[in-house]
Parts: sequence; structure tokens; C-alpha cells
Amino acid sequence: MTFIITEPCRDSKDQSCVEVCPVDCIYDRESWDTLLIHPAECIDCALCVDVCPVQAIYAEADVPEWFREWIEKNYSAFDLARAVPRA
Ligand code: SF4
Ligand code: SF4
Repeated sequence: MTFIITEPCRDSKDQSCVEVCPVDCIYDRESWDTLLIHPAECIDCALCVDVCPVQAIYAEADVPEWFREWIEKNYSAFDLARAVPRA
């Protein structure tokens, strides 16, 4: 699994999550309007979730329906295909 950054990060990008991530898998690019998590590097520790002031970060399985497109966005930003969920 991975954790996913979603829409509310837009316009904030305050980097709080970056400061607590133990494996430095949260990236920022000038061309991105949010920070994004590298799905293959994230170790699912959840430390980033509570420090986000705008509640933008969710476990992949818990991303609300209205933010689902952000899952693909996190994966494709790193040229990764999303793993097919196991039944
Ligand atoms: S869940 Fe942990 S490893 Fe994954 S992005 Fe958040 S802080 Fe980093
Ligand atoms: S803590 Fe939340 S708002 Fe701040 S950069 Fe990370 S995801 Fe974006």
C-alpha cells in the first residue's frame, strides 16, 4: 500500500509532512500544485497524517471517493503503475 496526498494540499504545501517522514519519500516539484508521496518508497507508518494541517493525506485504501483521482496522480508522478488491488 501507500499513503496518498490529495487536493487540500494545494495552496498549502507547508512541508509539515516532509519533516516527519522517516524515509524521505514525500517530494515537491515546482511544476506540482501539491506535494506527492512516492508509492514504492512509503513504508505506511502514517506519521504524516496527523501533522497535515489540512487533512490531505490518506492511506490508499481510505481515500474518499471524491479524491480517488489523486491515487493515480501520486503513482503516475513517479512513472509507476498502480498495483491491481487484491481481492
Ligand atoms: S506514511 Fe510514513 S513513510 Fe509514508 S509518506 Fe507518510 S510519513 Fe512517509
Ligand atoms: S502536511 Fe499536508 S498540506 Fe502540508 S505539504 Fe504535506 S500534504 Fe501538503
